[in-house]
Amino acid sequence: MSTPQLRPELVNGHSSAAKSHIQLHGMQEGVTGLIRTSLDAKEFAYCPYSKFRVGAAVLTRDGKVFTGCNVENACHNLGICAERIAISKAVSEGYRDFKAIAIASDLSDQFISPCGGCRQFMREFGARWDVYMSKPDGSYVETTVDALLPQSFGPEDLQMKKVQRIPNEF
Ligand SMILES: [Zn+2]
Repeated sequence: MSTPQLRPELVNGHSSAAKSHIQLHGMQEGVTGLIRTSLDAKEFAYCPYSKFRVGAAVLTRDGKVFTGCNVENACHNLGICAERIAISKAVSEGYRDFKAIAIASDLSDQFISPCGGCRQFMREFGARWDVYMSKPDGSYVETTVDALLPQSFGPEDLQMKKVQRIPNEF
């Protein structure tokens, strides 16, 4: 978890820049609600090993919200992050088009930042959607999947032109 370099105008969405003010007031309330939902989801975290609770709430383009929390395991590397659980719940119910995800933890001084694996997992469903990284007090930083994972590899890349060479033929 690194602390992102914050642009002050993005903290809490209280932006002096036009972009945030163009966002409808209702959208701001929507962000706050999504963050609140991710904070609530954190309460179900199963993390007896790390004692590091994480919650996530993903918002689909249809306006549906799916939540997740981290779920650890005695076989430690089987643990699953909150973000991946929230996204998987959505996908498993037919929703793949996402508008935003909010992430919450108990870190008091840092905005929770998704791990590299979750960034790639988000990227599977597009690079241009929003990520809200929050603190327990509800303050947050707004970013995007694309900003968190620049020059990413996604499903489209599998369709790109390839050389006509048999693998391992050198
Ligand atoms: Zn993760």
